[in-house]
Amino acid sequence: MPHTSRVRRRKVAVLGASGTVGQRFISLLAGHPWFEISALTTSDAKVGKRYGDVTAWHFSADMPDGIADMKLEATRDDLDAEICFSALPTEAAERHEASLAKAGHHVFSNVKTHRQDADVPLIIAEVNPDHAGALDVQRKKRGWSGSLVTNGNCSAITFALAAAPVHRAFGIEKAVVTTMQALSGAGYPGVASLDALDNVVPFIGEEEEKMERETQKFLGTWDGVQFHDAGFAFSAHCNRVSVRDGHTETVSLTLRERPSVDDLAAAMRTFRGRPQELRLPTAPECPIIVRTEHDRPQPIRDRDTGRGMSVVVGRVRVDHALGYKYVVLGHNTIRGAAGASVLNAELLAAEGRI
Ligand code: NAP
Repeated sequence: MPHTSRVRRRKVAVLGASGTVGQRFISLLAGHPWFEISALTTSDAKVGKRYGDVTAWHFSADMPDGIADMKLEATRDDLDAEICFSALPTEAAERHEASLAKAGHHVFSNVKTHRQDADVPLIIAEVNPDHAGALDVQRKKRGWSGSLVTNGNCSAITFALAAAPVHRAFGIEKAVVTTMQALSGAGYPGVASLDALDNVVPFIGEEEEKMERETQKFLGTWDGVQFHDAGFAFSAHCNRVSVRDGHTETVSLTLRERPSVDDLAAAMRTFRGRPQELRLPTAPECPIIVRTEHDRPQPIRDRDTGRGMSVVVGRVRVDHALGYKYVVLGHNTIRGAAGASVLNAELLAAEGRI
């Protein structure tokens, strides 16, 4: 395994560069020590246009230097980039991601299309880095020189990251989760303002199913040949609320063991993974921050914790119906999307897997 100070620099492309997640990729990759943006892709109508002329930039910090002048390209197999970070809509991902991997690119996808494929790892870098072993099977079976790695749905990542040390130490038997998901999770322009303001929408298409399936894969195992689900009972209620960024989730759990509430909180607070051991550039110092105030976490106060890469847990306590409960908050476009993908790419680069 190369020491991280010797990881070589690589060219990277952002696919779907003008969208919500695409812009987040650009802001996280600006000034990255290992990755250099060499291509930005768009839908056919904007090919050849200057990025700065056709993109409504969403952040208060200015567009990083040099990005505005880049020419948008079509998403094609001959992109000049070793790594492709995909923030494509579903149909475009179906058309391009496998084809790019076949052509030799390492594709890190945020899209649902391949997350459940039997030879495609679905990774949270701190939780299940060993699932990257599936790439050997993937390359052999598909005859690819490149690879395809996915990260999950934003609410599934937030839940699974906080739940991972709990499951590992005490064994989850049942979990019930209710989400309050930010508007940016619906992309741009997303939910119409008249549906969002003063309102809660108690339905997000396919979100509950994705959360349930992806959690099983994240917290399950890879045995060298296939993935096995975590196998606990899981129920998700997903709601859209009028918050700009940051998904809040209330969680109730039944565990096999009977830890004290303090032990449960300590398992989360002390949790560290490979990204922390390797001191990867995008890794937060602590992936899970546990707060003790009675009214935290809150999106406007806590979503940027650890530069948006930590999830923040609070109100860890006894639940008289299921056993234990807490609140967890994660930044949906950073830890739940672009930041998770960049961290996965850093991990695989540092471990010599790509
Ligand atoms: P979005 O704001 O709608 O952005 C998608 C962008 O892709 C659009 O700006 C579109 O822009 C571009 N595009 C369309 N066809 C393309 C093609 N053939 N090649 C290159 N670009 C193309 O959506 P988003 O929220 O960023 O989501 C992107 C993907 O990430 C989706 O699959 C979504 O499910 C997933 N995701 C989103 C979040 C989140 O929190 N938002 C979290 C996790 C995963 P142009 O027409 O301007 O090129």
